[in-house]
Amino acid sequence: MGLKTAAQYKASLNDGRVLYYKGERVDNVTTHPDLSVCVDTMALDYELAEMPEYHDLATVFDEGLGEEINRYYHMPLTGDDLLQQFKLIVASTRMGDGFIPLAHDIGADALNAIAITANIMGDADYIRRIEAFRTYLKQSDIAVVTAMSDVKGDRTLRPSDPGQSHPDYYLRVVERRDDGIVVRGSKIHITGAPYSNEIFVIPSRAMTAEDADYAVAFAIPCNTPGVKMICRPFQSHISDLEFPNSRPVRVHTDAFIIFDDVFVPWERVFLCGEWQHAATLVYNFALMHRRTGCAYRIPMSEQFLGVAQAIADFNGIAKAPHVREKLTDLVIYLETLRGLSYAACLDFVTYGGIAVPNPVSTNIAKYYFADEYHKVIKIVQDLAGGLLVTAPTHKDFLLPELRADIEHYLGGKAGFSTEARLRMFDLIRRISGADRETIALHGEGSLQAQRMTILMEAGKVIRECRRMVEEQAEIV
Ligand SMILES: Cc1cc2nc3c(=O)[nH]c(=O)nc-3n(C[C@H](O)[C@H](O)[C@H](O)COP(=O)(O)OP(=O)(O)OC[C@H]3O[C@@H](n4cnc5c(N)ncnc54)[C@H](O)[C@@H]3O)c2cc1C
Repeated sequence: MGLKTAAQYKASLNDGRVLYYKGERVDNVTTHPDLSVCVDTMALDYELAEMPEYHDLATVFDEGLGEEINRYYHMPLTGDDLLQQFKLIVASTRMGDGFIPLAHDIGADALNAIAITANIMGDADYIRRIEAFRTYLKQSDIAVVTAMSDVKGDRTLRPSDPGQSHPDYYLRVVERRDDGIVVRGSKIHITGAPYSNEIFVIPSRAMTAEDADYAVAFAIPCNTPGVKMICRPFQSHISDLEFPNSRPVRVHTDAFIIFDDVFVPWERVFLCGEWQHAATLVYNFALMHRRTGCAYRIPMSEQFLGVAQAIADFNGIAKAPHVREKLTDLVIYLETLRGLSYAACLDFVTYGGIAVPNPVSTNIAKYYFADEYHKVIKIVQDLAGGLLVTAPTHKDFLLPELRADIEHYLGGKAGFSTEARLRMFDLIRRISGADRETIALHGEGSLQAQRMTILMEAGKVIRECRRMVEEQAEIV
């Protein structure tokens, strides 16, 4: 079987899945006026693999299967494996004008984290199941997303804590049968789930013995009975107040997924009650996925540098000292993110026989990106000026009685058209909205989650540094 085409991916989605959007049940995600735009965004992953210039980056020849497979489902064993996958995510996100297609990357992160956990547990059955599932993914090239985030209720209480107002704030096993398990609960913010083929479900935190029913991981098709998804609203088309743009809109939605006593066959269960290993799974998923998250943000950071330079040119301020400082800040932002991310891949460590990016540099890269994000937006908004908010619309621009005035008064530096300037404001508004600000902060875990990991992972370095200065001070 091997690689899927974009057309095959789209055809596979009309499978009776239960999906709601803006208060209505959606029959077919591929023909829905809004959701089909998300489907086209996810399909970019398949289109990229079909393009000759990206074929080598997007695929790997699998010796065992004797065929080409999608690079995402290849088990990473070296730093170069991690780096090539990173470059693939960057390439596909550039193709999506800053939007990651998401068909394989987050699923691959869960696949590898589950495999690491099974290998560390040394459980032959789990190892066999996850490797059988990897083979299925290689052969089918289906789209898989990952549902980790629980709704959590009171964040300070454990899943099983009697203080939680009910036991369903974290997804759990409610029945163990001969042929499989039954799970109940929900997951929130799950990007791409409405137009993915399958969903990996994994715990969102470390568990205790009392939480054993919540230590569960599995993969199921999106049309599994009992799975219900509610999509968040989003803008799928450029407003007619903006200048027309023939480039397709790229966008995703995120689902609130309800698991209403869903049956999962044992073959698809990868953790069930082994609470001691939930933390290993969460840790490795977060690590892999933060590396992936950094790759998403490189094209985004390139966009900010690009629009800042463009609008500074249009406004005639590009050579002003404070503007050069701000452009320098944006270059430092982009190249620090890129440099740390590359270093994290090449300075990899091996967990459970699988290469993972360096934990300290990965978390610093993701933290740095998120922590500095609003500063970057501030620079772009500062350089753009107030017209970013107050500019007349494209509809005003079209009116014969207004156009000459708009052209005349809203020009910038000679040589750049008023229309170019107004179009750039449209683009800046599209790429710098609250959606992106929130995902920058919370995607791949909150700022605090990265800081905690950095301090924990840096323990060895901290001890070594302390020992070094104690030697220098001659107190050891
Ligand atoms: C657009 C978008 C897409 C996403 N896509 C996915 C996806 O595809 N799959 C997926 O699994 N997840 C996804 N996420 C979820 C993302 O990982 C979470 O939003 C993130 O982990 C934060 O969790 P939360 O939203 O529940 O916020 P919270 O955990 O409630 O965090 C809010 C604040 O509370 C603090 N806090 C939380 N717990 C405690 C505590 N015990 N003590 C003290 N302070 C605490 C946090 O540090 C933070 O400051 C997505 C999120 C967004 C915004």
